[in-house]
Amino acid sequence: SIPLGYFGGVGGAAKRGVLVKGSTYLDTLAAVNTVVFDKTGTLTQGVFKVTQIIPKNGFTEEKLLALAAQVESHSNHPVAQSIRTAYGRAIGESQVQDYKEIAGHGIQAKVGNQLVIAGNDRLLHRENIAHDVCQVDGTVVHLAANGTYAGRIIIADELKEDAVEAIRSLRKIGVEKTIMLTGDNQSVADGVARQLGLSGYRAELLPEGKVEAIEQILRESGKGKVAFVGDGINDAPVIARADVGMAMGGLGSDAAIETADVVIMTDAPSKIAEAIQIGRKTHRIVI
Ligand code: ADP
Ligand code: MG
Repeated sequence: SIPLGYFGGVGGAAKRGVLVKGSTYLDTLAAVNTVVFDKTGTLTQGVFKVTQIIPKNGFTEEKLLALAAQVESHSNHPVAQSIRTAYGRAIGESQVQDYKEIAGHGIQAKVGNQLVIAGNDRLLHRENIAHDVCQVDGTVVHLAANGTYAGRIIIADELKEDAVEAIRSLRKIGVEKTIMLTGDNQSVADGVARQLGLSGYRAELLPEGKVEAIEQILRESGKGKVAFVGDGINDAPVIARADVGMAMGGLGSDAAIETADVVIMTDAPSKIAEAIQIGRKTHRIVI
């Protein structure tokens, strides 16, 4: 039989907006000494805004943004949504063909008779396209048409309101390791890590790189348990690998929510420390 305290724990957690999919996860939560986060949509709002448009090689700002909106017309990535919002007009979607999303890199598609790519530094390197390498405080979407660099669009995301408090309260309850894994660039990751006072981060990771990173963290965590919190489709394999996988319920992809052991209904990262506390209290009642 299952001790009654567990029911109190799962039910109590649900009342506080934390869905725990089974009483054994309360024990795991109680033993967490490392919390690993995805960046976009987990620590940040996941709502990007275009802040700069820098056209090159004969493109105008207008033309570059239109091209970007077209090539991004089928993507659900928050980066793509921000570009479509900035463009703010109907997109000639019928012109977009052979659309291909390249995980951790960006997009490739045919727009009219041009082969267009939109994505990060890594994508441009892979396609051998000369481009400006720049240190900016934002996520960079480079564009190229038929092998020629067309310029870049800089977009920025903001920290969630209670992200600072979330990290502070984790430290307060004795969770020393707070580590962010992101596919975004080094300078963005460094800025977020500093503002939040994270104990560590890894940037420019491909989806499989995030899995390798969590496996390394699991090996290094000793007796303590490792929680991972994410929201994206790409996060599901990492959520599955962690001792306790957590998903943001409101912003999360179906895959992330389904794979998770714990779902944070309110999307507030401060709920992570609360969930660990509930686990510890329930643990005490049961024993
Ligand atoms: P995160 O770890 O921040 O959730 P992702 O793994 O989803 O990041 O994406 C990593 C990087 O790949 C993004 O920061 C961006 O540079 C690039 N990228 C992914 N999807 C797109 C897209 N649709 N358009 C442009 N760039 C993209
Ligand atoms: Mg993500």
